[in-house]
Amino acid sequence: MDIAEKIAALKREKNAVILAHYYTRPEVQEVADFTGDSLALSQQAAATDADIILFAGVYFMAETAKILSPQKTVLIPDPEAGCSLANSCPANEFATFRAQYPNAIVVSYVNTTAEIKALTDICCTSTNALDVINSIPENQQIIFAPDRNLGAYLIKQTGRNNIILWNGACHVHEEFSLEGILNLKKQYPKAPILAHPECKQPILMIADFTGSTSAILNEAGQNPANTFIVVTEPGILHQMKKQYPNKIFIPAPPTNPTCACNDCQYMKLITLPKIQKTLETNSPQVEVTENIRQAAEKSITNMLNLKC
Ligand code: SF4
Repeated sequence: MDIAEKIAALKREKNAVILAHYYTRPEVQEVADFTGDSLALSQQAAATDADIILFAGVYFMAETAKILSPQKTVLIPDPEAGCSLANSCPANEFATFRAQYPNAIVVSYVNTTAEIKALTDICCTSTNALDVINSIPENQQIIFAPDRNLGAYLIKQTGRNNIILWNGACHVHEEFSLEGILNLKKQYPKAPILAHPECKQPILMIADFTGSTSAILNEAGQNPANTFIVVTEPGILHQMKKQYPNKIFIPAPPTNPTCACNDCQYMKLITLPKIQKTLETNSPQVEVTENIRQAAEKSITNMLNLKC
């Protein structure tokens, strides 16, 4: 039996389901029961009837699954799989920030800790962020956290000037080289640039399409172009090549061409041997303190109930 077969046998034996994010390693995506972006994964986590959810992704995603399904065992193969964006918003500092705007509604990107979700009125993902903002009355002041780039994109798209931004960012999406992308565009002038809204504004301004990973994946299928320049974590290329084998996907380069700074090193911590061991030992498990879980759950269900 190879390792993928052993993992499949363990899943059957334990009634476990593996949810994997698009940014994980290709071989990890291949053993998953479901692969998706943050929104789709949180919907799956809420809906599954498996006893065990093994989350092949970063910690805040596994935490979100535990918040939604507290009666289930939620496993993460490596608890060190953090997120620079979630880390850029510590709960104590955010609580102080929020207190300055007592009348504001707090919208937080799902890339946050459970503590931040507990301080949030409604969560969002990059897939539904615009719909979430548009669901709030126009004259209502909003705090948006933690991603300043996605926040700036939302302000631009909605024309609202009453959105206050927390100054956080994802190191992976901040590292793309505008110059490198423009050079690629010279080489492939017909290739649309597909960018994630966590990228900086100058990159979003030259993008032909801006959207979440699942929206980028859909666009690659619907757009008649044959070649695409992809400006998000390159793990998504596995699904793009799998779904559209006749198309060409070129990953955008980082500012420093000698580093792999556009790889999310946290996502890449999840490996097949760690998944196997986690299923064998039922650990490490993800736990969330009950009072925080209940407050955090409200902000996530407020998002899921929007059906957007
Ligand atoms: S790509 Fe960025 S936002 Fe996504 S998990 Fe990695 S560090 Fe966090």
